Amino acid sequence: MSLETLLQAPPVSGSSNAAFSAETFDQAVMSTYGRFPLALERGAGCRVWDVDGKEYLDFVAGIATCTLGHAHPVMVETVTQQMQTLHHVSNLYYVPQQGALAQWLTSHSCADRAFFCNSGAEANEAAIKLARKYAHTVRNIAEPVIITANASFHGRTLATVTATGQPKYQKNFSPLVPGFHYVPYNDLAALEAAIATLDQDSPRVAAIMLEPLQGEGGVNPGDRVYFQRVRELCTERNILLMIDEVQAGMGRTGCYWGHEMLDIEADVFTSAKGLGGGVPIGAMLCQEEFAVFQPGDHASTYGGNPFVCAVALAVCQTLERENILANVRDRGDQLRAGLQGLIGAYPAVFTQVRGWGLINGLVLSPDTELTALDVVKAAMDSGLLLVPAGPKVVRLVPPLIVSEAEVEEAIAIVQKTLEQLL
Ligand SMILES: *Cc1c(COP(=O)(O)O)cnc(C)c1O
Repeated sequence: MSLETLLQAPPVSGSSNAAFSAETFDQAVMSTYGRFPLALERGAGCRVWDVDGKEYLDFVAGIATCTLGHAHPVMVETVTQQMQTLHHVSNLYYVPQQGALAQWLTSHSCADRAFFCNSGAEANEAAIKLARKYAHTVRNIAEPVIITANASFHGRTLATVTATGQPKYQKNFSPLVPGFHYVPYNDLAALEAAIATLDQDSPRVAAIMLEPLQGEGGVNPGDRVYFQRVRELCTERNILLMIDEVQAGMGRTGCYWGHEMLDIEADVFTSAKGLGGGVPIGAMLCQEEFAVFQPGDHASTYGGNPFVCAVALAVCQTLERENILANVRDRGDQLRAGLQGLIGAYPAVFTQVRGWGLINGLVLSPDTELTALDVVKAAMDSGLLLVPAGPKVVRLVPPLIVSEAEVEEAIAIVQKTLEQLL
């Protein structure tokens, strides 16, 4: 059945096999998303198929989430096996899979402890609470302030949307959560000035929360010299350096964690998106010194259940066993080189490609009328899924298992798309 037909299909009720109708969908689902007129039915590896059977190369991966692509045999087996054994019991009891995942994560990072939740926003929410508790109980700060960056993205809950330095996400949701202050990203002088002002009378700055590479904000990599100086400042002043690894973490940059690309250690960092390879899980990790939560301080009913932890652990072990980080680095180099070639051929359209590993942004020239959305829509018609990161950046975040031939194919489709658009 074609999507057109499906759009007109009458609602089917009482059938577990109901045909898809966008009209009935839009009547029943809260309109929080501007959706593309596309319904995907199945996936395998880096490819997905829509309800008409049309094939797409998936360079979105559920927004930097499906680390191992679609229907990966290890995930299928782990999901099936854990569901047949035990899927949820709550944190009233010990969950061995949760302990094993925490051990994997802490032995593959600078962190010593992990708290599990279900999403990136929740992971950041936990980090914000941890920073506040540390400030109150260890540093005796009555009104702690957390510094975040302009153009950042930390989530949609009230505290994390406040942390997000983009007014468009905050509009109409005031009053926001007090205790946040924003500075320009990668700007050391601005950060030093902000700390000096905030700490003028008595220390107030509890934490600095930054993405190692700003994802939603336009694929802006962090500057090494900046981050190393921020690390020193935080250590000198006992300020927590909290790195939001929700998008850049879990191998996407070619290192397990984006802050490794910057050669720094985080006091606290958060993970979600790629962590479960597509099952909902989030984690907040920290070094022992900052692990100030005690029983009753924070919780999540679903957080770290046997099902998601078994799957996330299988994803982590697969990344390691199959040396997928090497693939991320090689395919990333290949992708950027190919896109660089396109920039050379279309200098009036694109100004640069930026990113690390397999998180890359193709930046549109301010002089072209084309928007990222135009490119994304045209590429979709040509069988390639891409996602904007702001109005003028096209983001490419394929599964980390993407092959050399698939990267080549994606570059060819982008080229074909441009030929059609211009
Ligand atoms: C997506 C994202 C979040 C929010 O994650 P959710 O799982 O959607 O709550 C937070 N921080 C960063 C850097 C993200 O990219």
